Amino acid sequence: MTNEHDVTRFIHLLEAHLGVPRQKTKRTEPLDMLIGTLLSQNTNDRNSHRAYIELRRRYPTWKKVAEAPVGAIASAIRVGGMKNQKSGRIKALLRTVHKDYGSYRLRGIEKMMNDEVISTLTAYHGIGFKTAACVLLFSLRREVFPVDTHIHRICNRLGLVKTKNPYQTFEAMKSLVPTGKSYSFHTNLIRFGRTVCLAQRPRCGQCLLYDACGFSEKEKFASGKTAVSSRRNSDFMLLDEI
Ligand code: SF4
Repeated sequence: MTNEHDVTRFIHLLEAHLGVPRQKTKRTEPLDMLIGTLLSQNTNDRNSHRAYIELRRRYPTWKKVAEAPVGAIASAIRVGGMKNQKSGRIKALLRTVHKDYGSYRLRGIEKMMNDEVISTLTAYHGIGFKTAACVLLFSLRREVFPVDTHIHRICNRLGLVKTKNPYQTFEAMKSLVPTGKSYSFHTNLIRFGRTVCLAQRPRCGQCLLYDACGFSEKEKFASGKTAVSSRRNSDFMLLDEI
């Protein structure tokens, strides 16, 4: 059965090879983070960051975004893909936030317990538990370990959990990630999933976690000749840049 010691071992191995990620000192407004994660759906972090920067350049306040026509918002964020769907969601989110809070700030959210933050944010259309968990970790600096499809895949391959979907993994990992390590483990697993433990053809032959990994097909993938991709792109994390 997996326990905290197994997770700690993987955290240390990843930190030894990829470094210990440090969060920037400046805190990001939770609403900025929500819009950023909406923009990140179905695209890579660099393109969603470009879309975010262009949106903020054209409309420096969320009030201006809310007042802009959907088509103009779509034009500003087109580099991030799915511009029509995302622009509609952004506008709807801003309208609802303004209706609920009387401003374009999620006032009081920083005083809520983690579960309350998650239930508050996931009540908005297009905001899932992963986004809410990212707001908790990246914006509110809580000890929360967000799980996306990539982290779900890796945690299962490593044998840390045996779950069917990211939500189950999120719940199962809550008691396993040691205090103070949520950001490091999340960040390094994202990097690791982009360069080594790929979804389709994991590079098990070059994997630093090979000996400890519980993936039943690791020997098969270890024989494949695939180079580990550059870390230049894998290190860019949208949520660190908003
Ligand atoms: S051995 Fe393969 S499956 Fe296991 S963590 Fe490494 S790359 Fe992923």
